[in-house]
Amino acid sequence: MTDCLFCRIVSGEIPSERVAETDAVVAFRDVDPKAPLHVLVVPRIHVADVGELADAEPATVTELVQVARQVVADSGQESYRLVFNTGEEAGQTVFHAHVHVLAGRPLSWPPG
Ligand code: 5GP
Ligand code: ZN
Repeated sequence: MTDCLFCRIVSGEIPSERVAETDAVVAFRDVDPKAPLHVLVVPRIHVADVGELADAEPATVTELVQVARQVVADSGQESYRLVFNTGEEAGQTVFHAHVHVLAGRPLSWPPG
């Protein structure tokens, strides 16, 4: 989808700082980091959210988590939080599935 921000990042049309990629997913740093490590892992295919990804390409949901774990390990961190904001009221602003990978500082609970 040419009007989708993350499709344009996946294609390379919009630059990003990539930290990992596989045949199915791309990981890049969030432009507005909320923690010392803040990476987004996105599928190459366009789907609106993680639920749609689970229906369309279930193995890619696993790959998002595996790549997220690898990015955390590469950064030298051990604890991390994965966040799938899903739907406007939950804070989703980009409607191409993505997981936030946050690490490098204490993270409070519950989230806002
Ligand atoms: P959401 O709010 O949908 O869960 O997360 C979208 C994320 O995309 C936000 O954390 C935001 O900072 C990030 N973001 C928005 N535009 C860009 C961009 O052009 N490049 C990068 N690397 N991240 C972006
Ligand atoms: Zn997209």
